[in-house]
Amino acid sequence: MKKFLSFFIVLVIAVSFLAATSHIYTVAEAAPPAKNVILFIGDGMGYGHLTLGRIFKGNALTMDGFTYNGTVSTYPNDPAEKWVTDSAAAGTAIATGVKTYNAAISVDVNKKPVETILEIAQKKGKATGLVTTTRITHATPAVFAAHNADRNAENKIAVDILNHKVDVLLGGGKQHFIPKEQGGKREDDRNLITEAKKMGYTVVENKDEMLKVTEGKLLGFFKMSHLSYEMDRDPKREPSLADMTKKAIEILSKDKDGFFLMVEGGRIDHAAHTHDGAAVARDVLAFDEAVKIALDFAKDRKNTLVIVTADHETGGLSIGGYGQYNFKPEILKRQKNSIADVIASKLTPDNIKQVFSQYLGIEDLTIDEMILMLNAFKEKDKNPSAVANMCADIVSRRALLGWTSTAHTGTDVPIMAYGPYAEAFTGHIDNTDIFKLMMQAMGLDKNIKMGSLSGSLFLYPSHRIKLFWGKKESNEALTLHLHKGCVSDTDGQTYSLSNKNK
Ligand SMILES: [Zn+2]
Repeated sequence: MKKFLSFFIVLVIAVSFLAATSHIYTVAEAAPPAKNVILFIGDGMGYGHLTLGRIFKGNALTMDGFTYNGTVSTYPNDPAEKWVTDSAAAGTAIATGVKTYNAAISVDVNKKPVETILEIAQKKGKATGLVTTTRITHATPAVFAAHNADRNAENKIAVDILNHKVDVLLGGGKQHFIPKEQGGKREDDRNLITEAKKMGYTVVENKDEMLKVTEGKLLGFFKMSHLSYEMDRDPKREPSLADMTKKAIEILSKDKDGFFLMVEGGRIDHAAHTHDGAAVARDVLAFDEAVKIALDFAKDRKNTLVIVTADHETGGLSIGGYGQYNFKPEILKRQKNSIADVIASKLTPDNIKQVFSQYLGIEDLTIDEMILMLNAFKEKDKNPSAVANMCADIVSRRALLGWTSTAHTGTDVPIMAYGPYAEAFTGHIDNTDIFKLMMQAMGLDKNIKMGSLSGSLFLYPSHRIKLFWGKKESNEALTLHLHKGCVSDTDGQTYSLSNKNK
């Protein structure tokens, strides 16, 4: 019996070893390509934002359920801002695999356009879609279907996006598609909405209109600028991110060649810039519901890769702060609307107490807090967001929600994946690897050189931080990267699984 038991144990170990080995090869060589890729980008969504969303929900997020997850480095290739990326450079890295300077919309450091995953997918006959809660011309959606040296050139970016003939475009930003005399921002008198209709787009401007469309090219603008924060959204008029995601998948999945869809939770970042914890949490939860829509579609299909990540972290958000071992989410939960879009616009120097009571559930504003608010009003001419920032900081301090910056930070962001090739999105990768892994997963370029940055001698090439120490063959980090079937040395020579013994 004992003998049999030990034989059995050896057998189990051998089988699991074989299974693990074949698993590796499945990722590198044998897996059939993903027909569809749905890429979610939570703008500014770091680990603190996820934790905050989970605490608000009081239950696990859909995003917590992914088996395969990892961390992503986000630094740009920008001599002035070496460590901290903006959404344009980070988006370009994800969309094209190329590191560039902050503000670049899918152009390299020499301002030359670089091909995007959406453009490549289109060439292969796939349907494409961009869904966002920001203006469709804003950095994150723009990097997939436009090329510009400056992210602020949104009128030009609008033309570029339209010329790309993306099948489904849903979000905000109508102002960059219509001329000034019609309330827009265009100086050239072009009405891109009229032009879009001539190109065959159905154009919709509210939720009901959107829900009626079931096929063809769809362009949806639900706001002149960004869509509402989730906590301010009128659910009758404005679709949720999940509503838009569902509609996009419904239309795009009719293409027999498959599709590429990018979905952005764009206002997580904006809320974090303001330090508005409640608005961050509500937008993370809205994003999570959109992720669930995609997973429900991908489940049982075995041909759809769902990736969820962020472009960077915003705010240096921490659960707990100010030197205290505590966090008080109940204070944030009393907040009725977003601080930047609604509460700050209600505030005047004369009604501070009343607005804090009505919208934030704060009845005991201290004299010190009152003085801070009054000083913020004096600063308003110099800094238009001074009142919103101060209001949010008072709430955050009471809730013990920590922030280190009103800008982005250079900390790693999460990545998780489901479906074919999901195993490749594990461990620590670089944001440029996301493009390469998507290409590999879709079978769009079998010869792509993997790990040119994350697998190179220097993890951060411009900063010369060593990833590998000593001999390559005995190096743990190298072994770690080998499971992705893609390691290169400093000369860019690729060591794939198939030639690792040569
Ligand atoms: Zn930002």
